[in-house]
Amino acid sequence: MKIGVLALQGAVREHIRHIELSGHEGVAVKRVEQLEDIAGLILPGGESTTLRRLMDLYGFKEALKQSDLPMFGTCAGLIVLAKDVEGESGYLKKLDITVERNSFGRQVDSFESELNIKGVAKDIEGVFIRAPHIAQVEKGVDILSRVGDKIVAVKQGKYLGVSFHPEFTDDYRVTEYFINHMIKNN
Ligand code: GLN
Repeated sequence: MKIGVLALQGAVREHIRHIELSGHEGVAVKRVEQLEDIAGLILPGGESTTLRRLMDLYGFKEALKQSDLPMFGTCAGLIVLAKDVEGESGYLKKLDITVERNSFGRQVDSFESELNIKGVAKDIEGVFIRAPHIAQVEKGVDILSRVGDKIVAVKQGKYLGVSFHPEFTDDYRVTEYFINHMIKNN
């Protein structure tokens, strides 16, 4: 299968590598026309304000709002998928959640934590970099993981969102989960 990674900003190459390790073809998506050609799309981390601006500029907002492609957002990508963002408006509104940006405090800008992710594994290394968390979920959203009392992974239908960066380790099980559960079951 061909799986796209939105390639406007952020950790694109790392996601493509995880797609390849999962046995599929990873494509860097830079133009909306390429959406026709892929079975699912990963929205990488980076900086969500910049990502949103670039998505506006290249026509991805409208195209993805209308698209029914399965999507997986990591960190800034999760923020872009959320229906609501604390203090600002939601963007693609595919996941019925409210996220809070940069919510782990300045002292712990970045950290790693071993995560128990429902349906995936109990020992996933989560790399958090100025990470958001999911402050609220609506009905129909499945909570997959928490750090302390903060929700850091959810799914809803064909959408998956995580606060951390699975692509910065060699462990590609979260990407594989997206492919097997959101794309193949779609
Ligand atoms: N702090 C960034 C934001 O709010 C997200 C950080 C990331 O993607 N690693 O957009």
